[in-house]
Amino acid sequence: MSRFAQQRPVIFWEEPRPGEGDPRVETRVCLETGVVVATPMLDPNLDDEARDATLGRLLTELIAGRPVRARWYYTPMMLPFSRSVSGACVVYDCMDELANFKFAPPALVALERELLAAADVVFTGGYSLYEAKRSAHGDIHPFPSSVDRDHFAKARASRDTPADQAGLGTPRLGFYGVIDERMDLDLIAAVADARPDWTLVLVGPVVKIDPEALPRRANIAYLGGKSYAALPDYLAGWDVALMPFAINESTRFISPTKTPEYLAGGRPVVSTPITDVVRHYGALPGVRIAADAEGFVAACAEALEDARRPETWLPRVDAALADLSWDETFRAMNGRMETAIARRARQASADIKVALPYAPAIRPASRQRPFDYVVVGAGFAGSVLAERLAAGLGKRVLLVDRRPHIGGNAYDEYNADGVLMHRYGPHIFHTNSEDVAAYLSRFTRWRPYEHRVLARTSAGLLPMPINRTTLNGLYGLNLTSDDEAAAFLASRAEPVASVRTSEDVVISAIGRDLYERFFRGYTRKQWGLDPSELDKSVTARVPTRVNTDDRYFTDSFQAMPAAGYTRMFEAMVDHPNITVETGVDWEDVRGETVFDHVVYTGPIDDYFDQRFGALPYRSLRFRHETHDQEWFQPVGTVNYPAEDVPYTRVSEYKHITGQSHRKTTITYEHPSATGDPYYPIPRPENQALYKRYEALALAERGVTFVGRLASYRYYNMDQVVGQALATFRRLAEREGRVLKGAEIGSAVGDA
Ligand code: FAD
Ligand code: UDP
Repeated sequence: MSRFAQQRPVIFWEEPRPGEGDPRVETRVCLETGVVVATPMLDPNLDDEARDATLGRLLTELIAGRPVRARWYYTPMMLPFSRSVSGACVVYDCMDELANFKFAPPALVALERELLAAADVVFTGGYSLYEAKRSAHGDIHPFPSSVDRDHFAKARASRDTPADQAGLGTPRLGFYGVIDERMDLDLIAAVADARPDWTLVLVGPVVKIDPEALPRRANIAYLGGKSYAALPDYLAGWDVALMPFAINESTRFISPTKTPEYLAGGRPVVSTPITDVVRHYGALPGVRIAADAEGFVAACAEALEDARRPETWLPRVDAALADLSWDETFRAMNGRMETAIARRARQASADIKVALPYAPAIRPASRQRPFDYVVVGAGFAGSVLAERLAAGLGKRVLLVDRRPHIGGNAYDEYNADGVLMHRYGPHIFHTNSEDVAAYLSRFTRWRPYEHRVLARTSAGLLPMPINRTTLNGLYGLNLTSDDEAAAFLASRAEPVASVRTSEDVVISAIGRDLYERFFRGYTRKQWGLDPSELDKSVTARVPTRVNTDDRYFTDSFQAMPAAGYTRMFEAMVDHPNITVETGVDWEDVRGETVFDHVVYTGPIDDYFDQRFGALPYRSLRFRHETHDQEWFQPVGTVNYPAEDVPYTRVSEYKHITGQSHRKTTITYEHPSATGDPYYPIPRPENQALYKRYEALALAERGVTFVGRLASYRYYNMDQVVGQALATFRRLAEREGRVLKGAEIGSAVGDA
């Protein structure tokens, strides 16, 4: 039982609320404290990976939109499914050296190392453990068990004799707690054999050890597990309380909570020499330590004497326990947490704006609060506008997204194996806009990164965009200068009278053979259309080079947010005027929220109920895989232009994020006609349809449309940020506000 569950008996629980579906989460709420206990109900046949993935998803859904003050771990084994949850701090409350326990999972040691590295503050369940872990963390503090004295003091006066104990012989020597490999079963047998006139009462579940291995004697009673509330009644019926622990690796660091509980219950204690018991309680009258069976029996005999004369020792014990209280433990731990949170905030503001969890979720009732703006969609478009409107104009903003997270398609997260990955495919940040880079730099530090792509061809992996190295590798040439390469391409290029389509643009530059090898198959897969059916702007995104520059982009600014996109978004929307609600659709708020203006960043045709028909979007199915090897491929992305390969590209995140990890996560992109709308499809008739929606949008009062989906434009992230900042300027002007550099998100600011 955890420290805090013991703090007071919790009695006012709402009936368990069964979850739906499978897997599901059942929740109970403590009516006194509001504590919610969520119990995941999983298929027991899941393997570890599937179980952690499921738990991760359930947890994310459970806490979506709620502020997380701390991720609090009793065991590192909970890390794999929760490490991506962001909170104000991470606490490792280390209660035992779990790695020494029977059946300890092999992953535990590595996970504990990771947890110690991630934790802001570490607590240990006792001093021995503290001494063992002291060098592993800079902010570590021992918190030996405290005791709810009033609860256990009931044992001194209790007359409620539990039925299963009432008939047992006396005197009674009792133990309560988990009965596992830490118990010295031989010792128990020896005591029972030495004194058939005593009755040994063992209360607690038998765990991990074979019940057959328990010593069976006429004077040993195993009563099974009892509730915390019932323990004082059992204790009341004993003359002496026991701690017959084996002295071995698994008990080296234990700090049994039951020591002060037994004493608070007024019972003399006999224990084997557990380091922390000896250290904290060994010198107290009423506590006896004995290492072997003979000594233990003798100590028990003396303790029985003590039991008859409590006045000779109990007052001194009570004085020693007087300072112990869970409230005091809470106060001290809370203080350590505050310090850790403040330290983290200081560090973060030194590097980036604080990545605190975003604003607390609001209940529907509070939607009645008036907002100046409702922003629909928390991707780049929505988050930038929410930030600018709140921080730049002091507006009260409700930011909603129907997904369970912020960040839109740029959302990234640590997966169950701890690899930082992009849920919606690889997102590489690059821009030539100084304003956009400067604006985003307010919310993140950057890791310089230049993306490199190789295409899988019949001649092996070759650089994409096509450059001199590609030509030499493909055709076995030895082109040594830009001019030679340019001449080679010119000899291949086919004149096209009017360059309109994605086929024209490539053929006119590099000819049919290169087009077919690198562009035709890829584009047909990606778009479900032949390049001749697509606007030239699509393949024109990928240039051809005559030099050996093998970078995918040549923008002046190329870098990844140092702590990931999600952290950057969290910092962006962390403003007192911004309320974030994830898992909420525009439809959920439009009728019941009081607001002046809407910024809509979802699909424009959805907003108008597709009254002119659906705008076509291309979608993708992402197949994420984690491999138990350090690297999967030589660069961030490998393209597969061949039409008979069902995916277009494979991306490996560690190249992109710079993370070190012994495993690696990759994503296959399988294009698809159905699914989330990712790519507006640039074709003249689609543009014409969009124009009809755009006309409606311009006439729609009080709504501003912005972003890739609302503008139906194949925008990169930086273009969306630029568009959002420009939109903000227009909104501010409409209010008659004259803004200066930094207020409009300009790099040349005066703030
Ligand atoms: P989104 O990110 O799509 O955000 C819109 C949000 O609105 C979504 O979260 C959605 O859930 C929400 N929403 C929609 N309708 C509703 C509703 N009715 N109610 C509530 N919420 C709603 N760009 C680059 O610069 N570099 C890259 O490497 C790159 N790679 C990409 C890879 C892939 C696979 C894809 C699909 C895109 C890539 N992009 C890249 C483009 C980039 O994702 C977009 O430019 C950017 O995310 C657009 O931001 P946005 O805010 O306009 O839209
Ligand atoms: N393209 C291609 N072969 C490639 C890479 C790209 O034919 O190896 C074409 C394809 O039509 C693709 C377009 O160029 O959709 C734009 O490529 P980009 O890498 O910019 O696509 P995005 O990252 O936006 O999916």
